Amino acid sequence: MNTIPVVENRIWQPEFECMERSQLEALQVSRLKEAVARCSTLPFYKEKFKEQGITPDSINSLADLRKLPFTLKADLRDNYPLGFLAIPKSQVSRYQGTSGTTGKPTWTAYSASDVERWADLCARFLVSGGLTPEMTVQISFGFGLFTGGFGLHNGIQRVGAGIIPLSSGNSARQVMTMQDLQPEVLICTPSYALKLMDDILKGDIERSSIALQHAHFGGEPWTEEMRERIESGLGIRCWNNYGMAECGGPGIAGECAYRNGMHIQEDQYIFEVIDPDTLEPVAPGEKGEIVVTPLCREAFPILRYRTRDIGIIYDDGDCPCGRTTRRMSRILGRTDDMLIVRGVNVFPSQIETALMQIKDVSPHYMIEVTRPKALDEITVYIEMEPEFFSDSMREMQEIKQRIDTAIFGTTGLHMKIELVNPNTLERFEGKARRVKDLRKLVD
Ligand code: ADP
Ligand code: ZN
Repeated sequence: MNTIPVVENRIWQPEFECMERSQLEALQVSRLKEAVARCSTLPFYKEKFKEQGITPDSINSLADLRKLPFTLKADLRDNYPLGFLAIPKSQVSRYQGTSGTTGKPTWTAYSASDVERWADLCARFLVSGGLTPEMTVQISFGFGLFTGGFGLHNGIQRVGAGIIPLSSGNSARQVMTMQDLQPEVLICTPSYALKLMDDILKGDIERSSIALQHAHFGGEPWTEEMRERIESGLGIRCWNNYGMAECGGPGIAGECAYRNGMHIQEDQYIFEVIDPDTLEPVAPGEKGEIVVTPLCREAFPILRYRTRDIGIIYDDGDCPCGRTTRRMSRILGRTDDMLIVRGVNVFPSQIETALMQIKDVSPHYMIEVTRPKALDEITVYIEMEPEFFSDSMREMQEIKQRIDTAIFGTTGLHMKIELVNPNTLERFEGKARRVKDLRKLVD
């Protein structure tokens, strides 16, 4: 088994990350007033503010946040392309966008100081995840409109480490670069890391020929069990960070050395957790939809953005790292990822958690949803690890049985399980699409 490097506790901007709580909250309120002032110039908010009598002066406490309207992805689409732009175009320093995986892409924009602040936000989680100026980082996120590539690039530059802006794709070249330039850090989606891990472990590559120590993953949901697979497979320490283009991209939250949740960058963002049906806040420590209000973004301000991501804000006191900011769980799923099967709500991450408990199966899986007889059915396809693949029906049946029990344990449902040959399921270079919903074709 590979040893996984340990990382000392380091903090990039203690003046913001470790603020005394009452000071932090006072800063949040004054920044929220400014954000409301910026939004009042936008037609989308102007009308709503007028109807509800909202002005910057009406915001005097964090509780006043709840007076403000929510903003949905659909609102961004309705105001396409730049309805939320709050500065003159001549002052825009950067445009980025969403990948458009769930429909028409949306744009976001940055002023020069937005870009500067964003670099610091990314530097915060990179440094807490062990990045030092002496290191070299391979960025295997796509460069382009996707916020991951340039966001991380600027953060690494801020720390002063070396950058290999390789972008995603061509995994043979990715692995060759790891051997030739010896980066200590890898940046990509967790599913691309799986693909690269396959190439390293199953190819003719000596682990000692690459220098990787850490990886920073974001952009898509992944589970703790998947982290264990990648960490023990490659002998690296993997970190989670969270963000979305609509609110500025990566750097909104990230793990510290203790990895007990992702610290929310609360000097620049206010997070709420709501029940997506009632829109009311959930009880402290309960899971719900994450709602994000960026406080400092000048070019593209947005209020109470409903992310559709499901998570928890922990209610268990301070973190030993010294940061005073609250921490959030991993993203447990998205409201639009949730499957309802025989009346039971299931997130793909629950299935992943179950599968990764079975060591005979690989981390490559696919979930297919069908509706054969008016009832939804899930089939889980999972690749076997080559060494466990067997001609014996009895052995295969026994593995299926264990998978069934594990899935029942995390979801309360029995699903159809198909064991497939190694290397037969699709691999992903960016965000994975592991759920195939065939119901619409059957309807
Ligand atoms: P889109 O995917 O909508 O085109 P983005 O590329 O900005 O836009 O992706 C943002 C979304 O990616 C988030 O809302 C969330 O669903 C997902 N995401 C980002 N980071 C993580 C993470 N660490 N864990 C889980 N999901 C994440
Ligand atoms: Zn911490």
